[in-house]
Amino acid sequence: MTIFSKIINGEIPCYKIAENEEFFAFLDINPVNWGHTLVVPKRETDYIFDIADDELARMMIFAKRVAKALRETIPCRKIGVTVLGLEVPHAHIHLVPLKNEGDMNFSKKISDPDPEKMKQIAEAVRANMEEV
Ligand code: AMP
Repeated sequence: MTIFSKIINGEIPCYKIAENEEFFAFLDINPVNWGHTLVVPKRETDYIFDIADDELARMMIFAKRVAKALRETIPCRKIGVTVLGLEVPHAHIHLVPLKNEGDMNFSKKISDPDPEKMKQIAEAVRANMEEV
């Protein structure tokens, strides 16, 4: 079982943003920028482009809802979208609030993010989430 499946099952804590039957969103624990969120399918697949077409389309629609709430919550110009997947073998989409290009630099993460700030961000984004 991947670390993300353990988060989805509640075995490992997270700063949850949203959930439906198929997908789960939570704050990245080592954010590249405040509000950096991961969207993952509950069904474990390593490589994102191995996901079936219809499931992948629904995953992107779910990510779109999360991105809308992020954009309404975090001061930013747009929500950037990235897929890496080099670390955790459970497909996930990175959503990162951007003011400029440098905000999407995965080599420059926020060191030791304040848990209280992470909690407040998650609460604020959740309050802006529509049905998913
Ligand atoms: P990658 O697989 O290269 O897309 O990187 C995995 C991402 O998952 C990294 O940005 C990590 O900071 C993030 N990550 C790893 N473990 C956790 C966790 N327990 N909670 C939240 N984010 C995590």
